[in-house]
Amino acid sequence: MTTREECVALDERDELAAIRDEFILDEREIYLDGNSLGPVSSAVRARVIDVIDDQWGRGLVRSWGQAGWMAQPTRLGDRVAPLIGARPGEVLVADTLTILIAKLVGGALELRPDRHVVLTDAANFHSDLYIIEAVCQRAGRPITLKAIDRNNLDAELNDDVALVELTHVDFRTGEALDLKAITAKVHEAGALMLWDFAHSTGALALDVQGANVDFAAGCTYKYLNAGPGGPGFMYVREHWQGVLENPLPGWLGHARPFDFEPDFEAADGVQAFVTSSPSIIALAALDGALDVWNRTSIDQVRAKSLAMTDLFISLVEERLARVFNLYTPREHERRGSQVALGHPHAYGIVQALIERGVIGDFRAPDICRFGFTPLYLRYVDVYDAVEHLVEVMRTGAYLDQRFAERNPVT
Ligand SMILES: *Cc1c(COP(=O)(O)O)cnc(C)c1O
Repeated sequence: MTTREECVALDERDELAAIRDEFILDEREIYLDGNSLGPVSSAVRARVIDVIDDQWGRGLVRSWGQAGWMAQPTRLGDRVAPLIGARPGEVLVADTLTILIAKLVGGALELRPDRHVVLTDAANFHSDLYIIEAVCQRAGRPITLKAIDRNNLDAELNDDVALVELTHVDFRTGEALDLKAITAKVHEAGALMLWDFAHSTGALALDVQGANVDFAAGCTYKYLNAGPGGPGFMYVREHWQGVLENPLPGWLGHARPFDFEPDFEAADGVQAFVTSSPSIIALAALDGALDVWNRTSIDQVRAKSLAMTDLFISLVEERLARVFNLYTPREHERRGSQVALGHPHAYGIVQALIERGVIGDFRAPDICRFGFTPLYLRYVDVYDAVEHLVEVMRTGAYLDQRFAERNPVT
């Protein structure tokens, strides 16, 4: 069994160790919820303050041009692109993830006008299910959204399927799907593929080019640490640019926004998907948050992530044998950057851990969810988190009456 001393030694050898100092963290806490909301870094703070004091404060309306505000959605898209294996010009930062899914589904349905089915995963994040259903209902022709068991995709694919939308890393279990194999299968059926990268971006290497992905979207406030409500990003393969239309056009996606023309004519490239004025302060936070990738690589982060989730799983299994149901796959290639432990008292366990300063979250019906974020977590944090979990289970603290009723945000 790995000892605490061995974890300290792992941290001493860890090439990412110094990056932790860039984040604002409470040293009395162990933050295992960076898969839900990442912490603030000093670069984010500095960039946001600079935009407020200087670009907005002094430059005012001139900053739309002089400070490059207009170009931020595509400039930042180019900064996100390497993290998903996209080429420059293929990624746009805008809106939020749910809205971007609406734009991509709405546009994609027009590319397969003879087909009437959209497939998604019944276990998908609810927001994906709601927005895709709403877009399908308003498509202008009968479209059926089928929420399937993703393991039955083969049987569900046929020549009436226009689009398949799947979340690459399951938000409950942390299972990572096979990007390349699934995309290829969908293409064989003549359908288009849209991936949701909410729990993938910044957590593991993605290769949208190599996998031939048509469209993808993700958020930036989870593993990219761009702040609450931070902007989303969308990927449109070069092949589809100028073909895929934005179903929610606005003035800043126009080829000549300052000609104030009554008819819409799409700008070139992903700029056509900009609807409204970009949220400059939120984009500044993302700009600062991306700086860390100048000093590390996704491969380095992934290697440490797997080592941390391996360590957590093995410590839990050794010290709490048969107490939890492990929902997260053991195979590395099928694992994201979180571990999901099933237990009938999951809610109380997570609350008791939070009281001890170990911040994870609960996902209905029975999941204790722990995110492992290599940029600012240490191996010793993994060890100590398990120590707290052992204590919570030993003392039965999770059975306390205070945890009988659930908070609205879990
Ligand atoms: C977090 C998450 C979202 C959130 O969408 P927003 O529109 O950014 O609030 C959507 N889909 C999945 C799979 C998620 O995990």
